Amino acid sequence: MNPLRTALSRTLSLSVRGVRRLTGRTPRMILTYHKVGHGPGRVQPEILEQQIRQAQAAGYEFVPVSRMSEWVKYGTNLPRRAVSLTFDDGLADTARVAGPILRRYGVAATVFPVLSFLGGPRRYASEKAQAYLLAHDDDPRTVPYDFMTWDELDQWVEGGGEVGGHTLTHPFLGSADEATGLAEIKACRRQLAARYGSPPRVFCYPYGDDSGQAGTWVRQAGFEAAVTSHHGIVRRDSNLHHLRRVPGAVTAGREFADLLAGVFLARQRLRKAFGRP
Ligand SMILES: [Zn+2]
Repeated sequence: MNPLRTALSRTLSLSVRGVRRLTGRTPRMILTYHKVGHGPGRVQPEILEQQIRQAQAAGYEFVPVSRMSEWVKYGTNLPRRAVSLTFDDGLADTARVAGPILRRYGVAATVFPVLSFLGGPRRYASEKAQAYLLAHDDDPRTVPYDFMTWDELDQWVEGGGEVGGHTLTHPFLGSADEATGLAEIKACRRQLAARYGSPPRVFCYPYGDDSGQAGTWVRQAGFEAAVTSHHGIVRRDSNLHHLRRVPGAVTAGREFADLLAGVFLARQRLRKAFGRP
């Protein structure tokens, strides 16, 4: 980065944090995680642990997504500094690497498992899926990935974690026909309800694809709220079935403090406004 851009970036960071301090307002945020471990496209376990310690030391409280959605819907009490951690797809390392860290710090996070993938190595099969992953993923999911087992999902729930719906097979809902789309959404809700005694409250769109009729089907199936992959904070006037998230896989320290304070989003808005990639 050249010196001018470094200076601008620093100024932006200081001014956004300064405004937050003066107004006492901290943005409510849902953070997205996927793979945990060492390697490209993964959040390192040590970094995840540091982020949690850093956030707790700064007075943040971790709440499941359903607490965030209750606040949007009813204005129910939510800590002034609230943040939700979400783990997409139900990969094995979510249970085996992130799970113990989350339990150690008493963090109730939300996992969105692809139910038909649980319990083994699976690949995201369709050609469209492969093309998407090649374009969007630092470490494309072109090889089979290991997913957690149902028993590990049970442990997640027993440890205080939340489970949300994420379909059976991870389709692009925006281009699915109504029968397929609704069946995928309803079936994952039914299976989770049968296992845990009450239906999951929140849903996550596979590939973040909330286009077309996807939102309508998720509402029809009975989900109270749903998260997308569009970037943004959670506000009282957020659309409950299109809640925005922020990628959490950054380093701990200043970068994470900036992310929680909303600096990351401010920077992204500036880049968009000035046409920078
Ligand atoms: Zn997914």
